[in-house]
Amino acid sequence: MLPAPVSPTRRILMGPGPSDVPHRVLAALASPTVGHLDPYFLQIMDELQTMLRQVFCTQNKLTLAVSGTGSAGMETTVVNLIESGDKMVVCVNGVFGGRMADVARRAGAEVFLLERPYGEIFDAAEIEAALKKHRPKVVGIVNAETSTGAHQPVEDIAKLCHAHGALILVDCVTSLGGVPLEVDKWELDAVYSGTQKCLSCPPGLAPVTFSDRAVAAIDARKTKVQSWYLDMQMVKDYWGSSRAYHHTAPINMNYSLHEALRLVLEEGLPARFARHHRNHIALRDGLAAMGIQYAVPETHRLPMLNAVKIPAGVDDVAVRKQLLTEFGIEIGGGLGPWKGQVWRIGLMGSTSSASNVLLFLAALEKCLLDKGANVPAGAGVAAANASYRAG
Ligand SMILES: *Cc1c(COP(=O)(O)O)cnc(C)c1O
Repeated sequence: MLPAPVSPTRRILMGPGPSDVPHRVLAALASPTVGHLDPYFLQIMDELQTMLRQVFCTQNKLTLAVSGTGSAGMETTVVNLIESGDKMVVCVNGVFGGRMADVARRAGAEVFLLERPYGEIFDAAEIEAALKKHRPKVVGIVNAETSTGAHQPVEDIAKLCHAHGALILVDCVTSLGGVPLEVDKWELDAVYSGTQKCLSCPPGLAPVTFSDRAVAAIDARKTKVQSWYLDMQMVKDYWGSSRAYHHTAPINMNYSLHEALRLVLEEGLPARFARHHRNHIALRDGLAAMGIQYAVPETHRLPMLNAVKIPAGVDDVAVRKQLLTEFGIEIGGGLGPWKGQVWRIGLMGSTSSASNVLLFLAALEKCLLDKGANVPAGAGVAAANASYRAG
């Protein structure tokens, strides 16, 4: 017997990614596949680079979409900047900083960890102390830590890195398209993202951008990049004017990113950031009225990833299961030390809407009441509505 054709149930993706993919993006994915050197595809690649520069707010020549998910972007930035024995400071306050340290060690870096508990962020002074103490070639840091919902400012840290002769490598997988990110103005050297968070495209590509300073460091390497597949020296020749074959680009994924970026630019970055903020505030007010607390202080919360404490006595897995089966809503559980302690509610890209916020608050109330929790009836939706009506 042949398995049934693929026919997934439609979900509302309110977890840590992937986010809901608009129809236009899925339709682009289903367009006819052409060759990876077809003139039409080369035009799509050029347009992708132009649009990526716009969303990254950069003029960086070396800006492209790596074939692979966000983690491939992480690996690309690390392996191209790091040669065996190079020193790298990695800031770890969640899962993704930890992953970056693992990738850096595998690439042969001598890694110095700077650690903070989950939910906290780093201040410039401690980064400066680490720069003085270790004299690293690269400092790696996560701008939007999806495992905790903490928003790490990086502009001041970038200036300090340069004052001490280091490059700054930034994980912007969840921040790109959801909160302001100014690669040139903030002087970021190597930045990577992913498609399935605030760009609302299926997972599969990793936008990356390298500053001239980073490109100079790559050009000055004495050894070959440890990964053949992710070696920017070769990949850039395929994206650049020589169009030398390196690997077969995932053609249709690039179509879908093209449409996702068109949607971002059609909306406009300021409007998109305002929408993410607006819906986050309404969700926050709704949750507060239901007695649910955030796990991260208000001073550095991400709008697209709301980590909240699971109310005492409530069964984490049972509530998430009911949300999924009864309402088709996916939210995320906690990771690492926060497993079983927090829920991660995503409002990323096209998922960030008033309809989703109101539906989620109503659905969560039903699940909590069914599990015997004490929630004031209608309070969450009423507070969110008041927040929207207040403008
Ligand atoms: C999702 C995510 C990644 C990893 O991306 P994948 O697409 O899952 O490989 C890396 N860093 C952050 C901050 C993320 O949110």
